[in-house]
Amino acid sequence: MTWKEFCEIAVDANNRWTKIKNDFPENKEVLEKSYLVICHHERIQLSLNREYPYFDIASITNNRAILMDTEIKNNLLILLGKMKDIQKELKSLKPMENKYKQVNTALFNLRAELKLFNLNQLEISDDIQVEVRFPWVNMNIIQKIKSHALVDSRKTCMCMACIRVVL
Ligand SMILES: [Zn+2]
Repeated sequence: MTWKEFCEIAVDANNRWTKIKNDFPENKEVLEKSYLVICHHERIQLSLNREYPYFDIASITNNRAILMDTEIKNNLLILLGKMKDIQKELKSLKPMENKYKQVNTALFNLRAELKLFNLNQLEISDDIQVEVRFPWVNMNIIQKIKSHALVDSRKTCMCMACIRVVL
């Protein structure tokens, strides 16, 4: 799927989760500690930013298996790799050092390049789902949530042993 489709899935799941939480005001406090993850072969914590592109791109590419192997993925990883190196270099310098300004400018340019990067050229794995993670196990609450209409009932098992909730 495209980046745009991927973002739509994430935003939609996030909206549904907000609605579900609002339907259980009596559990508000514990539910605030829960969070969403995107499950692929590895788990990525889903923390959405307010605006497009919604994700911290670097955090997605740290979980690079979610991106299909394409040339554009390679280019993005190279760019992010450069940014990482240069950020590290900048940290090691003091603002009064001559080299600081030069490295700072290089970082500024790379950030501008990243902004121009067309994320929609990336291919994201279709094999993903959004799940809720609870930092506690209270089956009473989890069972109530599992049966909410906005939860994916085909992928969520209702038995008392399963704490997996798929949106
Ligand atoms: Zn089960």
